[in-house]
Order: sequence, then structure tokens, then C-alpha cells
Amino acid sequence: MRAKPDVDLTIANYRRASAPKVVIAGRPGAGKGTQGTRLAQRLNVQYLSTGDLLRHEIAVESALGNAVNRLVAAGRLVPTGLILAIVETNLGEGGYVLDGVPRTLAQAEALFDQETLAPTVAIEIVVPAHVALARLTERGRGDDAPIVAGERLATYETETVPAVDWLERRGLLLRVDGHQSPDVVEQNVLRSLEYALQRCDESSVSNAQAIMPVLDNSACLVAGSEYARE
Ligand code: AMP
Repeated sequence: MRAKPDVDLTIANYRRASAPKVVIAGRPGAGKGTQGTRLAQRLNVQYLSTGDLLRHEIAVESALGNAVNRLVAAGRLVPTGLILAIVETNLGEGGYVLDGVPRTLAQAEALFDQETLAPTVAIEIVVPAHVALARLTERGRGDDAPIVAGERLATYETETVPAVDWLERRGLLLRVDGHQSPDVVEQNVLRSLEYALQRCDESSVSNAQAIMPVLDNSACLVAGSEYARE
């Protein structure tokens, strides 16, 4: 369990948010795609996965796809400039669920440099490394082969954990236990978000309802939001 951030900007950010801008982090295999897609549907905002988009570009052999093919196949990170260009080009106005960005401290800082892109909340789906590896092996995607999966997991520790820690220091991070069934994780994601919204205004749930009308008032307990990374 980590120390609480000094300044909790989550509250202020939610108050300002006309539509939630959510970034989803987590080890490869944590379930970001599954949860990100579901959450975007719930919140009625755009879902963007840079990994999905890159895989599509590679499949259709576009210039972008050809440029990144070897990096993605090797489980290495694509240059930040390209990722930011993808995000800027593909994210519309309003809220979003962004899966797979930020992957580095530089990406985290760059997201916040642009007011329209700045996330209002970050969710880390936490699974132990051995669970992530087992899931990747089972999934069997091209970049999930054991050596590449190992590389991607190592990259998460060295490159992405500092970005997640940075988000935590800004008071934006909710942690959710991802080592459960997708439905349970989804509930915990929603409850964690709602809990953060509750803290916006203890006396009223209208705030929460404005942003998350899909939730009823009964699900106000914190559930699974404080899982430490292994
Ligand atoms: P994912 O599906 O999110 O695991 O991403 C698959 C691969 O796409 C990663 O292993 C990277 O090679 C590349 N990629 C996706 N998002 C990013 C990012 N934000 N920064 C750098 N590379 C990325």
C-alpha cells in the first residue's frame, strides 16, 4: 500500500470535468482492453487503444504500420512523437477512455501539456506479473510470444511505472484489483470511480450521477480501489 498523494487533484478535476477523460494503465495482460471498452460504453465516451490502432496500421501495411512494425513485434515502445500524433489525430472533442497511454513519463507530461487532452482520472488495473504472463501466453497474439511478452512486462516496470507513479502524485490514480473475472473487475472500476466522485461532494450524489448516470446510488462503497502493485 502506498502513501496517499499530498494533493488530491481528482476532486477538483472531476468538478471541472464536463466529460470524463480516463486513462487506463496496467501491465500487458491486465485487461485494459476489456475494461477500457466496457467503461467507454458505460460513460458514453470515445475509446481509443493505441495498441489496437497500431496493430491495424501494421495489418494494412500503411506507412505508419510499416514504420512501427518491428518495434511492436519486438515488444518495444513506439516513439512518443508518433504516439502523441496518433492521440491528437484520433481523439475527438469531449471525454475519452484512453488505453495504453501514457506508457512513459514523457507521454504523461505531454498529455497534460494540452488542456483539451489532459486526463481527469487514471485507473491502474493491477495484476501480479505471473498472472499477466500467463494471460499473455494464453492469448497468443504475435507480440505475446514468451520472449516478447517478457520484454513488454519488463518495459512496463522500467518505463510505465514511473508514469503511473507520476499520475498518482498528481492525485489522479485509482487502483483496481484486476486479478478477478472481467465482470467483477468492471464493477470495481465503476465503484472506484464513483467513490472518487462521492468524495467530490459527500453531501450529494448528483455530481456522480451527472457523470455516471448508469450507476445507482447504492454502489457507493469503495471496492478494490487501493490495491498496491506487487
Ligand atoms: P498494447 O496493445 O497497448 O499492449 O500495445 C501493443 C504495442 O503497441 C506495445 O507493445 C508498443 O509496441 C506499442 N504501443 C502501444 N501504445 C504505446 C505507447 N503509448 N507508447 C509506445 N508504444 C506503444
